[in-house]
Parts: sequence; structure tokens; C-alpha cells
Amino acid sequence: MTGIDLSQQLFDRAGEVVPGGVNSPVRAFRAVGGTPRFIASARGPYLTDVDGNEYVDLICSWGPMILGHAHPAVVEAVQRAAERGTSYGAPTPGEVELAEEIVARTPVDKVRLVNSGTEATMSAIRLARGFTGRGKVVKFAGCYHGHVDALLAAAGSGVATLALPDTPGVTGATTADTIVLPYNDVPAVELAFGEHGHEIACVITEACPCNMGVVPPEPNFNRLLKSLCERYGALLILDEVLTGFRASRSGWYGLEGVPGDLMTFGKVMGGGLPAAAFGGRADVMDHLAPAGPVYQAGTLSGNPLATAAGLATLRNATEEVYEGIARAASVVARAATEALTKEGVPHRLQVAGSLFSIFFTDEPVLDFAAAQRQNAKAYAAFFHAALDQGVYLPPSAYEVWFLSAAHDDAALDRVVSAMPGAARAAAEVGD
Ligand SMILES: *Cc1c(COP(=O)(O)O)cnc(C)c1O
Repeated sequence: MTGIDLSQQLFDRAGEVVPGGVNSPVRAFRAVGGTPRFIASARGPYLTDVDGNEYVDLICSWGPMILGHAHPAVVEAVQRAAERGTSYGAPTPGEVELAEEIVARTPVDKVRLVNSGTEATMSAIRLARGFTGRGKVVKFAGCYHGHVDALLAAAGSGVATLALPDTPGVTGATTADTIVLPYNDVPAVELAFGEHGHEIACVITEACPCNMGVVPPEPNFNRLLKSLCERYGALLILDEVLTGFRASRSGWYGLEGVPGDLMTFGKVMGGGLPAAAFGGRADVMDHLAPAGPVYQAGTLSGNPLATAAGLATLRNATEEVYEGIARAASVVARAATEALTKEGVPHRLQVAGSLFSIFFTDEPVLDFAAAQRQNAKAYAAFFHAALDQGVYLPPSAYEVWFLSAAHDDAALDRVVSAMPGAARAAAEVGD
């Protein structure tokens, strides 16, 4: 390490003009402490900060960079697109091709492109309410769907709690129609449908939750949601913004095979540029303007640079890419868990396709309450010891460790050799 003076200076300057110094909260390192690194450039599996420190990147922009950073095909596609002009406010061939690529890989019939995962889930919920003529939305504690007002209610305790807002600025009226349930809790879902079934517009869930760490659905949980929705005339929205084109070529759907009536995508499909989508059954999607009455729009939706980056990424994300990432993930997961075991640090590995996370607890994590019982202080020590050795883990204990096709043996060796020191630091924290 050559020090972090320039990052510190930038963070101080940023604090003067940007709230908390960052444009998305987790970047600020609040959960682990310390100074966030300001990144100057990235290539393949590596990030380089403004002080010249190089890190093996295990966040991959929180998922999108599945091919690694600055992949030649993606860079070239974006450069070519830029030369043709960056936005027209009129339809383009790239949008049709990206929509076709998504439809080919997933069960959705039609998609609408948007700019962020938040926009995708917000629009999907509006569409579900417009289609069903109902108001209530069921969500699960610990599932993140972006910063949509009605979905920021995660504080569900007990069964079928009518939600209270999680953050100032979201009014009780906004979340009054949101029912928050514990994840993987079948009786809670059955009870909520028993009480409110005919007022429920939709159930929204991460197809496989990854924003409280990886908490796979119990076998048949998604199928049960699907059949309850069918029975009561509600829609199932499977949020694959994180897992889409990540957990497998066809996302979590590719592993489990349960289709949503609506599904949301983001992250990987933009190849590192802002692109996201929601899609689903044709009869539902055709309720969107201009085909139908539910309004939804966007000045930069389907932006030519973003669609070019997304197409280049998806076209290069072959079966071999997913197999390679799954192999790399198992190398990293094994090294981390072996080091933690050797140091006697309680931990638990949970896996979803090529995605995994490590909880600093030894109990099985089936829901948010269990995820919250982990030792976040031990993780913070683990994180900083890894960072000091040039390995950039997620700055929060509740995140997936992301890999890419560019994580070759040299990069993986660096990660593997950082794990014993990181585990020792975690052990020193104790319980
Ligand atoms: C990241 C994420 C979102 C929000 O996407 P943004 O592009 O950050 O708005 C929504 N749902 C899930 C499951 C996500 O992981």
C-alpha cells in the first residue's frame, strides 16, 4: 500500500458538496469504518485507487461487471455507439436487440427498458396495481428492491405486520398498503393471503434474496408464492435485478424454473452502464402506455450507450463464463471458510448458483432476523485486513462476494493468500 492520502483528501472535499461524501450510502464504508477508496481506473479483476493501490475486486460494481472491467468488446461497443451520438429520444435498433436477448434468456414475453433497478421495481408495482385494480403489495423483510418509497418498509416483525416506514421521508400513507412478512415463512404468507387475499395486487420478492447476504428460498417457497398469487388473482413479481444473468445465464429462473408474472432486471444487463428492465406476461405488459392505460416513461430509457454495453456483455456471457465464475467462486469460498475455520471464527457459507456470501454466524440463515444475528464487528476486521492485503471485499457483512470471468489464477491466488491474515484479524475481535 502506498497510503490513502489522495482518497482521504477527495473524501474530505466530497463531504463538503455531497451528503456523506458519496452518491450511494454503502460506498462510504460506514458499516466497516475507515476511508472509502476513490477509484481511478479498473481493468479485468483489478481496481486501482487514486493513490495507486491495486486491489482484486470482489464487488464488481455490485454485480454488473460479470466480464471484468474494461472488457475489450464492451469498451469497443460503447465507443462505437458514442460516435453515433449518445441519445435521440427516438427508438433505436439496439433496444430491440437487447429486449430480444432478455426475452430469449428468461420466461418474459415482453420487456420495457428503464435506467435503474429501482425504476424497474417501482414500475412493475404500478403495473401490477393497474392491471389488478388492487392496492396491497406483499414484500419480505431483508429483500431489497431499490429505494422505492412503498418498498422501504422492511421492519416486519411477527406475522403479517402492517408496515411502518423504515426511513424518514416515506410517509405511513405510502407504506400503508405494504405488507411485510418474514422470508421463507410459509404460514405467514398463507395468513396474509387469508386475511387480505382479494386486496393484494402483487407479491414482490427477490427471486433468490442476495441483499441480506445469500438466503436461498426454501424448496417450493417461490412455487407456493406463485400458486397463492394465482389462486387469489394477484401477480408474482420476481426481482432478478441482482441475480438476473448472474446466478446463471438465465438468472435464478435458470436454476429453479419458477416464472414471475412480472420480473425485474438490472445490473449485469447494463454491462456497467445504467440500464434495467421489467418484463413479463404479454397480457400484463400490454397494459403499459402506449399499448394500455398504465403510464410509464423515461427520457434516457433504452439509451444507446447503455444498450450497447448491455448487449456486448450479454453476448459475451456464455455458458463457459458462468462455469468459470462458479469455479472461481468455489476457490474463494473454500479459502475463506478454511481460514475462518482454522481461526475458530463462527461463519456460514451460503450459495446460489455462482453467487455466494459468508455470514459471520454459525446458525443457518433462512431470514433477515438470522442474518442480523451475525458478528458485524468481526466482519469489519476481516474486511480491513483483506483490504490492506489488496483484496476489496464488500464493505458490509450483508453482501454477496462478486466474481467475474476476468478473475484468473493470478487474481485468485492473491485472494487466497489474503484469507489467513483476514481470518486472524476477525478472530482477534472475538464475540
Ligand atoms: C440493486 C438492486 C435493486 C436496485 O437497483 P438500482 O439500479 O440500484 O436502483 C433492486 N433490486 C435488487 C434485488 C437489487 O439487488
